[in-house]
Amino acid sequence: MGITRQTKQVKTLIGIFDDNKKAISVVELVKLLELQMNKTTVYRILDKLKDDGIIHSFIGKSGLKWYAKCHNCSHDTHNDVHPHFQCKTCGAVECLSVSFTLPSIKNYKIDSASLFIQGQCSSCTQ
Ligand SMILES: [Zn+2]
Ligand SMILES: [Zn+2]
Repeated sequence: MGITRQTKQVKTLIGIFDDNKKAISVVELVKLLELQMNKTTVYRILDKLKDDGIIHSFIGKSGLKWYAKCHNCSHDTHNDVHPHFQCKTCGAVECLSVSFTLPSIKNYKIDSASLFIQGQCSSCTQ
């Protein structure tokens, strides 16, 4: 326990996202870090990084939770309304840097939306 140790663990986790351009599932993260920290710690750090606008999460196939690095998000503004994509051939999951317009529904206030697209990624269609 202690602040220094926690900082090191937080750095380790951020490092994984820096090295990985694609999204990582929570299952994979726990497995990658199993020698360094327990599951509860991984979840706690993920929550914190999410609060700080460093990463965002989304639900993929079979309800699996995925995390990816945010671009231009901060603690106050999470502007990550972009679709996510999973390749059915290689299984890679990534953020798509395209934006989609949220529908406006009369008398409804929309806070968030998610779009999960499945298909074949650029490496697999070649
Ligand atoms: Zn692929
Ligand atoms: Zn994303």
